[in-house]
Amino acid sequence: MAVLSRRSFVTGGVAAGALGLLGLAGCASPAPTKAADSQDAGKADESNAASSGQGSSAQATASDKPWEVAPEPIAEADIAQTVESDVVIVGLGASGTYAATSAIENGLSVTVLERNETFNANGGSHFVFNSKPQLELDKAIDPVVAVKDFLNISSYRVDGSAVWTWANRSGEAADWFADVVEPYGLHPVLQHSDNVVIERIYPGTIIFIGGENEPTSAIDQDPYNGDLGLGFVPEIDLLAALLQHIQSKGADVRFKHTSQQLVRESDGRVSAVIATDGDGAYTKFVAKKGVVIATGSYSQDAAMLDYFCPIVSHNPVGDQVAQFNMGDGSGIKQSLWVGGVMQHNGDHPPMMFWGSTNCIKNVMVNSEGVRFIDENAGQSNFAAAQFNQTGGTMVALWNAEYASQLPAISYRADDPSWAATPEELLAKWEGLVEQGIFMKADSLDEIASAYDLPADALKKTVEDYNGYCAAGEDLEFHKDPATLHELTGPFFATKYDVPASLACMGGLHVNARSQVLTADDEPIEGLYAIGLAAGDFYANQYSTRFAGNSLGRCMTFGYLVGRQLAGLE
Ligand SMILES: Cc1cc2nc3c(=O)[nH]c(=O)nc-3n(C[C@H](O)[C@H](O)[C@H](O)COP(=O)(O)OP(=O)(O)OC[C@H]3O[C@@H](n4cnc5c(N)ncnc54)[C@H](O)[C@@H]3O)c2cc1C
Repeated sequence: MAVLSRRSFVTGGVAAGALGLLGLAGCASPAPTKAADSQDAGKADESNAASSGQGSSAQATASDKPWEVAPEPIAEADIAQTVESDVVIVGLGASGTYAATSAIENGLSVTVLERNETFNANGGSHFVFNSKPQLELDKAIDPVVAVKDFLNISSYRVDGSAVWTWANRSGEAADWFADVVEPYGLHPVLQHSDNVVIERIYPGTIIFIGGENEPTSAIDQDPYNGDLGLGFVPEIDLLAALLQHIQSKGADVRFKHTSQQLVRESDGRVSAVIATDGDGAYTKFVAKKGVVIATGSYSQDAAMLDYFCPIVSHNPVGDQVAQFNMGDGSGIKQSLWVGGVMQHNGDHPPMMFWGSTNCIKNVMVNSEGVRFIDENAGQSNFAAAQFNQTGGTMVALWNAEYASQLPAISYRADDPSWAATPEELLAKWEGLVEQGIFMKADSLDEIASAYDLPADALKKTVEDYNGYCAAGEDLEFHKDPATLHELTGPFFATKYDVPASLACMGGLHVNARSQVLTADDEPIEGLYAIGLAAGDFYANQYSTRFAGNSLGRCMTFGYLVGRQLAGLE
């Protein structure tokens, strides 16, 4: 099978969308079989009442939570046509694409509704347990140790059975997808495999790469770069290959189709999705076996963001505007309107990063010029720790030698988007100095002056740190001795800005079979949620010690929900 370039894959996605629209008339049934207004309004009320204890305001009413207020049902007379398939998947991001692939490979007819002109792809790191690339490199993970760690990080405020399902089935899912995309020239590789000593203590992160898209050290100028300089986005290749695959198998993929409401029958089953096309016309997509909500997060709905994930906008550093197409919560809302509820745990952690220009550096200090953390604590932990510092001030210091000290211990040295060699890394740092993002200084006084730090305290911090380097032991924060590198001038330094909030890691109350649950923990028949639309998996902080666990979860539960709907689970 021909391997398309990344751009032609994406273009292919758009073109396929047009074909999907053309296919609409051919798939249409002559008339709707059920009344479009059969939604159970009482269920929506139940949802409002049931979830009123969420978040910080136990007294909140529906007017405080506009996302819970169901609109008037779409009138039957307004529906132009009805289309029927076994499965209707709403959203063609990672989770929707995985679910569509699994469902169609397991013999189901699949319709996918995507409001944009192509799929949504970000990143590409998938944390999975003991897939082939891990086992081939003798990097097996003990799930008992790792899962207990994951649950402890979450204070056990998550669904342990869902976490165990991820641990038990993710390797199998990754191997299965590897077989599907192999004819498209992609293969899974273990990422960060030499970096387990530091932050990413579990070697479970795989990416799918291959063909002409095999990574190079050059920063790719892909349109999906976003604002973070995350130039290497292997997820684009993976989703493009899967899209090509499911369309070749007959999936009815409708771009520019936005779900508006779900239809819940009087017997409690969710039977259909009503969506608008690019012209605003309504089509009812009947799902004989199930509707899968894969619409992502709510981080672009300001009210939901403020309520469920307030740290994004209420922190000492500044408002972290959600920069990415990570969802307005529409699929979540539509599920609430038919009786679903949000996860009971009101603490939705954001996924927070700074991107490659602000990798963690040798020594980090706060506004008092003193260290406050083990510098290897991990990016997302730094974001949380940053918010605890006065004014959110966090300044990193390092020097040119650090570029060659990095490869063994680097946060991103094995990431092709950043740098392959110390020379390349140094050149990038120099470039960032020219852009004013980093500064270079011969003395600590200059750095103290530039970032408004007390110079004496900063000098003492560096003196102490160099003492720990000489002794091989960090007496303050017990940073791994292998990563203690003497800090002498000339120095590089940078002041950390607001970490970007990539997504909010909370959503609908679901069980380990991805069924959306009511306030009474009863599954709503026919309604599933996966990916960021689904909750109960994260608490406290998104952990980069399991780097890529969001996509790993998307892959696992997308794979499983397709199998469930096909009666295989
Ligand atoms: C820059 C960046 C890098 C990242 N890197 C990683 C990484 O390496 N590893 C990792 O684990 N996680 C990463 N993440 C997070 C990861 O991308 C998400 O966890 C993942 O994309 C979630 O997938 P999803 O399918 O749930 O939602 P999404 O990817 O948001 O997909 C939802 C889709 O649904 C569509 N949609 C929404 N509403 C409707 C509607 N009403 N009707 C029709 N369609 C609708 C949207 O347009 C979208 O295409 C990254 C995030 C960002 C922003």
